[in-house]
Amino acid sequence: MEVVNDSNCSWINDLNKRSNIQIISSDLDCEWLIVGAGYTGLSAARKLGQLYPNKKIILVDAQLAGEGASSRNSGYLVDTTLNDGFTSNKELENYKKKADIYKLGIEAVKKFIKEHQVDCDWNECGKYFASSKEKDKKILENFSETLSKLGFKHDILFNKDLKKKLGTNFYNIALYTKGGILLNPGKLVRAMIDTLSENVSLYENSFLLNWRKLNGIINCDFKNGSIKTKKIIFATNGFLKSLGIKKNYNFPITLTASMTRPLTDEEFKSIGEPKEWGVLPIRPMGATIRMTKDKRILIRNTAEVHNPYKMSKIDLDKRAIKQKIGIKKRFPQLPDDIIQSAWSGIVSRTRNSSQIFEKLDDNIFVAGCYNGSGIGVGTLFGEQIAIKASNENTKEIEIIESRNKPTWLPPQPFLDLGIKARLFYERIRARSEI
Ligand SMILES: Cc1cc2nc3c(=O)[nH]c(=O)nc-3n(C[C@H](O)[C@H](O)[C@H](O)COP(=O)(O)OP(=O)(O)OC[C@H]3O[C@@H](n4cnc5c(N)ncnc54)[C@H](O)[C@@H]3O)c2cc1C
Repeated sequence: MEVVNDSNCSWINDLNKRSNIQIISSDLDCEWLIVGAGYTGLSAARKLGQLYPNKKIILVDAQLAGEGASSRNSGYLVDTTLNDGFTSNKELENYKKKADIYKLGIEAVKKFIKEHQVDCDWNECGKYFASSKEKDKKILENFSETLSKLGFKHDILFNKDLKKKLGTNFYNIALYTKGGILLNPGKLVRAMIDTLSENVSLYENSFLLNWRKLNGIINCDFKNGSIKTKKIIFATNGFLKSLGIKKNYNFPITLTASMTRPLTDEEFKSIGEPKEWGVLPIRPMGATIRMTKDKRILIRNTAEVHNPYKMSKIDLDKRAIKQKIGIKKRFPQLPDDIIQSAWSGIVSRTRNSSQIFEKLDDNIFVAGCYNGSGIGVGTLFGEQIAIKASNENTKEIEIIESRNKPTWLPPQPFLDLGIKARLFYERIRARSEI
């Protein structure tokens, strides 16, 4: 088994190629093993490297480090997400807990980029929750009430203002939140790889086939070797379930996105030369769409149950057509052939949108499952699970652990049927917004 990703993601292809890739090809041992080198695993490895400068720490990934969802996302570092149900006091309390975690996530990323002087096109430009449907005003009013109670600065905007800010006539209503950052996810995760400390050994293209604990030692098998470790942290996110971890509590969802080439000056003028912006949909299956710093348009408008290990080129091309239509709907004046790349990526979801942060057994830990908001939360959870695994406590761990735990999922085939039915329903509800 291996993870076979397309090699089309612009965020990745724009970076310098890495060299000196190590693959597991013998039997190794270590004090700490971290499986999965996205934001979560890299942050756990960074923290352990600082805490234990004299211990042997190994970080492994099935593909090249950071080239899973961590480089393939849309680059929104969020402070808030939209949930129309949060009206009662209890729900408000839950929303606050979620927002507190987002805040800590932003602080964790901010601290990392400050400490290492990382250029990742950081832009504190806020974000829009937008819809073409004026009747979505009710959802935004409820959301606005929640945000006001919690002190988040925001505004509701209508078509004329939105046209000026976004360069498209498509949206009729939006809620703008001042918090929230847009960034280049590929640059951020590459900096996390480049700044790993010397006592962390990174092995890539090394797929963990299976693992077991025997007499207090955890034995991990790879195609051409093995690792024996005293402690292990699983940070494989959308692939937790396939390793048998919390398998009744999380499931993978495949997303696809496309990005255009940079617009020419003339094309950019034709849409009113807007500043960088990011739109999130009001209806869950609507499009996420952003204008990047270098005048490219990124769109993500699919989410589905799919084989997480691979998407064929034919399947990906079909999704890219949906993305081309999504861009055309919003920017009819732009040419048809401006999409430069299309890619897929895997996220992990739980039933109640709670994340996973746990000790599974003595010396076995897991962090993941961010339901599409993993840039900040993954960075935070990676650092904090390393601290928890060191038997320490922090105020961050207390906040993380005060959230509801993920709820139990029904077994197959009922799970897939349920998810597919829900996604189908949400797709119908959002059909104008795709
Ligand atoms: C299209 C898209 C858009 C998104 N947009 C946003 C956004 O705008 N903002 C946001 O905050 N989040 C977004 N997300 C979600 C975000 O990317 C993830 O939540 C985040 O990357 C999770 O980080 P992670 O380190 O936990 O997992 P990942 O980045 O998924 O890393 C897990 C790693 O584990 C490795 N692995 C899996 N199985 C094995 C195995 N058996 N052996 C060894 N290694 C293994 C994988 O190769 C992978 O590299 C988006 C995701 C996608 C796909």
